Amino acid sequence: ASAVELATLFLERIEKLNPTLNAFVTVDREKTLTMAREADASGKVGASDTPLSGIPLAHKDIFCTEGWRTTCGSKMLSNFVSPYDATVVEKFKAAGMVTLGKLNMDEFAMGSSNETSFFGPVKNPWDTSRVPGGSSGGSAAAVAARLAPAATGTDTGGSIRQPAALCGLTGLKPTYGLVSRYGMIAFASSLDQGGPMAKSAEDCSLLLNAMAGFDPRDSTSLERPTEDYARDLDKPLQGLRIGLPKEFFGEGMDADVRAAVEAALAEYRKLGAATVEVNLPNSGLSVPAYYVIAPAEASSNLSRFDGVRYGHRAADYADLTDMYSKSRAQGFGDEVKRRILIGTYVLSHGYYDAYYLQAQKVRRLIANDFAEAFKSCDVIMGPATPSVAFKFGEKSADPVQMYLSDIYTIAVNLAGLPGMSIPCGFGAGDMPVGLQLIGPWFAEAKMLNVAHRYQ
Ligand code: GLN
Repeated sequence: ASAVELATLFLERIEKLNPTLNAFVTVDREKTLTMAREADASGKVGASDTPLSGIPLAHKDIFCTEGWRTTCGSKMLSNFVSPYDATVVEKFKAAGMVTLGKLNMDEFAMGSSNETSFFGPVKNPWDTSRVPGGSSGGSAAAVAARLAPAATGTDTGGSIRQPAALCGLTGLKPTYGLVSRYGMIAFASSLDQGGPMAKSAEDCSLLLNAMAGFDPRDSTSLERPTEDYARDLDKPLQGLRIGLPKEFFGEGMDADVRAAVEAALAEYRKLGAATVEVNLPNSGLSVPAYYVIAPAEASSNLSRFDGVRYGHRAADYADLTDMYSKSRAQGFGDEVKRRILIGTYVLSHGYYDAYYLQAQKVRRLIANDFAEAFKSCDVIMGPATPSVAFKFGEKSADPVQMYLSDIYTIAVNLAGLPGMSIPCGFGAGDMPVGLQLIGPWFAEAKMLNVAHRYQ
């Protein structure tokens, strides 16, 4: 098929299904078709050395896109059009991919259910009374409902893996520093990492090939030789050592999730892998440490949204300070304000040592636990989420309940490790369950191999 035919097919599905799902916040048919025509004219569509050329892709609305509105799910940026592309967006363009539009998300990527978006909740295509997960909920719903063959997501504390799990997709959060954060609106800079969300590990490997790489415009980008992440996809799994953290298989995981995860592990044993028990003794501290570190960084990052240079500005104000405070009061939603308050508090004089510094020490312990565990295994497996997709409103009244949806994902971000969620069957209500894979730093090719052999 030509790029124009492909783009047209997906645009038609978006037109038909997006009013129900609310996965896209911005679609621009003409812009998309122009890119598709250019791809066709390049003569690269269908060529074996340019596998992504002409393939449509949609971006989480946290990635800046020149000429397309970038909202980050917030009223604050509801009128913002970036003058430049994020490095990731630029790289996909260079690979010949065609942008289908911008995807809904929790406001400033804060959330696990997509209920905090200024543009309204995204529905889970498997059951529209349930959440798609968050914060990359628009990305997950769009790919699951085939409104897009692939999407970008970002994962600060689980936001690629959790929605991938709840919508039955493959999602990969790369090693911190592998994918450029330039032009990716910052939430918690030491944790944020962009990655691909798609149907399969094979698709994710091709997307990661295009996304990854050193970027001098991101000061935490890692200078490493480029890799082909698809190179090991078919390798046999004979002798693979799978670590099962005791702490992930205790209480807290629903019985249906446990059954699906156990069945996947049995499958892996049939494929020649052996399972060993490992310990992550400090993993119980990951949610508390995260909810000090992430809000601290967020409170600092979000101070740039002051109504002066871009974004929402209050219509009426008395003076400059009043303009700042009214613009921010009107522009940010409740969850974002909660994070700014927590973050400002833990960074304030007298509390910095007690909270922020303490959380940083815990973060180190968590990273050390993983380093120890990887001495006896190649990859760690466990659930991606404690339950299948929950219903709208079920957790939104209690922030702590919502934060606990990420108990299995957050430690990975604190340690900067790569993590994946892959579909492993169905649980209650016939909803998808995600199996989480965690690897040592830079083990993406191995993890994609492990995922691909199962798929
Ligand atoms: N749900 C977590 C939060 O609200 C993680 C979000 C994310 O990874 N962006 O902070």
